[in-house]
Amino acid sequence: MAEKRTDTSKKHKARKRFGQNFLTDQKIIDQIVATIAPKREDNLLEIGPGQGAMTLPLLDRVDQLNVIEIDRDLIEILNSYNKPNLVIHQGDALNFDLDLFHPPIRVVGNLPYNISSPILFHLLEHRDKVIDMTFMLQKEVVERMSATHGSKIYGRLSVMMQAFFEVELIFVVPPESFDPAPKVDSAIVYLTPLKTCKVDNIKLFEKVVKAAFAHRRKTLRNCLKSLITQEQTSIDLSQRAEMLDINAFITLTQDYEKQDQN
Ligand code: SAM
Repeated sequence: MAEKRTDTSKKHKARKRFGQNFLTDQKIIDQIVATIAPKREDNLLEIGPGQGAMTLPLLDRVDQLNVIEIDRDLIEILNSYNKPNLVIHQGDALNFDLDLFHPPIRVVGNLPYNISSPILFHLLEHRDKVIDMTFMLQKEVVERMSATHGSKIYGRLSVMMQAFFEVELIFVVPPESFDPAPKVDSAIVYLTPLKTCKVDNIKLFEKVVKAAFAHRRKTLRNCLKSLITQEQTSIDLSQRAEMLDINAFITLTQDYEKQDQN
């Protein structure tokens, strides 16, 4: 049985359009904070602080915490805590300018599930500024992020994440840990940027990966016919995209880049 934190539902009615499922299970909150293991001087950025379930315990442990929240009503609640080390930014994390924060930053958040993939792709662009990221996401999304080639759930998200990050599922969180309870299980994922990332042109890489997985049942030869032919690459294009590991996608992109320049 989940241990309930304060009943926050009376203060604020959760908005579905903002993917609001508030964490109420104190044990889970403690486990997340222990996973983040913040140090006082860490430059922490929380996406979607909501009513502060994670924010308040984090504020006790760091000198300063930046948060980005889209819902103005929640900003009011966050302001009412009068925490001098809390810096609140009202806005949309999807197009927020991360250059405003001094790198290196540690990003955390119980992300709104309806836009978790676009947020991950947005952060991918800024990975050079990031030390690590600890997120709560739908368990199914974390499984897709960490899937290996050959599996049915291996796809664009798996390749795009694993080409740039080490992806680690830390623990699973049941629906009853939230108010309102989501319909699905959630999971904490820990992401660290790879020290040696072999992708040098992210835009081309994204283009190739997206095209390769556009029709899962078709061969790569079919999916990539407007980009590359078998003569132009050492990767066997009679396979389906799900059979290629990350390095093969990198080789494919390099081969595409070579012939694209000719
Ligand atoms: N961190 C809180 C918790 O654990 O209880 C709230 C988590 S709730 C799943 C997601 C939060 O993200 C909500 O507070 C929601 O208003 C906020 N949010 C939704 N879309 C957002 C966006 N585009 N940019 C910033 N915050 C957003």
